[in-house]
Amino acid sequence: MILVGFKKVKLAWDELGMSEQEDQAMIEYLSFLSKGKTERESWQIIEGWAHQSGFIPLDKVDNFKLGQRVRLAVRGKAGILAIAGLRPLNEGFRLIASHIDAPRLDIKQRPLYEEEGLAFLKTHYYGGIKKYQWMALPLALHGVVILRDGHKAEIVIGEDEEDPIFTISDLLPHLSKDQYNKKLREAIAGEGLNLLLGHNPSPGEGDERVKSAILLFLKDKYGIEEDDFVSAELEVVPAGKARYAGLDRSFIAGYGQDDRICSFAAWKAIEEIKQPEWTTIVLFADKEEIGSDSNTGMKARFLENFIAELITLQNGNYDGLMVRRSLARAKALSADVTGGYDPNYADVMDKRNSAFLGRGLVISKYTGSGGKYGTSDANPEFVSEVRRIFDNAKISWQTAELGKVDQGGGGTIAQYMAIYGMEVLDCGVGILSMHAPWEISSIADLVMMIRGYHAFLKYQS
Ligand code: MN
Ligand code: MN
Repeated sequence: MILVGFKKVKLAWDELGMSEQEDQAMIEYLSFLSKGKTERESWQIIEGWAHQSGFIPLDKVDNFKLGQRVRLAVRGKAGILAIAGLRPLNEGFRLIASHIDAPRLDIKQRPLYEEEGLAFLKTHYYGGIKKYQWMALPLALHGVVILRDGHKAEIVIGEDEEDPIFTISDLLPHLSKDQYNKKLREAIAGEGLNLLLGHNPSPGEGDERVKSAILLFLKDKYGIEEDDFVSAELEVVPAGKARYAGLDRSFIAGYGQDDRICSFAAWKAIEEIKQPEWTTIVLFADKEEIGSDSNTGMKARFLENFIAELITLQNGNYDGLMVRRSLARAKALSADVTGGYDPNYADVMDKRNSAFLGRGLVISKYTGSGGKYGTSDANPEFVSEVRRIFDNAKISWQTAELGKVDQGGGGTIAQYMAIYGMEVLDCGVGILSMHAPWEISSIADLVMMIRGYHAFLKYQS
């Protein structure tokens, strides 16, 4: 018997044949990336689409019968969309769960200071960033400041053509002898990531006239006082719009594609579904990049509470056992990206278990690090079911690990879904320059992901 190779390499491009609708979806995706740069903005966009598509806020529905569309916003930073299926919810449901937060620099609670005529905002980075990537590039400020009286000032500066941008200054090479000798990890200090804010002083004499001019501007334009930074959630993100990349326009370059590419695909997958066999749910979590803690992160119980609400709507009364059954019988994809194979960094990858750009959707049976720690290791029975779904739907897919076994690793929200007993498998696409200010994705992979997620949600069994 001759042993045949694992699988002939098939490129997603070869089987793609993009429809007009899918072409249009790529433009929508670019706009989603360009406008949704924080979890709040991303959820706001998704909620707007959901509203247009007939998803009704949970507190405004009085039933959960076949085809009923329901949405839940979680503190404006995360959310869930559901469509009632033919089968009762206690038999389980189909779920695709992604996250809408992304690595960035957060503004500290006492951020503003002036030194030698320059005003700065101090930052605290959020998630796994390589600090040097955030120096000397155009940055924008997005977020909210909740004033003492509870009023919310919403801020987006640095995106409009007319807006100023911000930047963090880097050291000139001429004086970098000591810096060059440092380890990459230590070359830039966390406390060195200070956003340059201005240097035009208010008239008169005295100290900190630049800072006082900045404060005057903030008061005038937004009603913000210095103390109000205490109750602010301001995020520094790369400025500018997402766009096509490559001479052949085959890539998309943009900030926050981890994990807004899977979030977008999840939305596209559920958008057209009307009367599914199984109740169909997509979820957009916050705080994945810092371990899923906080009440908007996947470790909070908002999914469980949502199912309890739906079961109560469906049954007329709350039944805790039905809620548990529903969750335990669910089948889910944990929708997140993985590191794409990069020939420039081939030595950190296991070529036989890598996610290649242009080869379609990626499933990862497990993620984690240091010997599978911190992951949900999917059951092979479920992996088999998912590959069957993808094969039947003619989806180009591949299997991958994040990199070489001893090289590092990373987790997803899959493990916090597995807690309920549901079947869950990590499934997304490979990304180049993951967690960098500009991440690169493949159009072919994105299209396959939308098709694959759709097939998963609609699969009848
Ligand atoms: Mn992610
Ligand atoms: Mn990430």
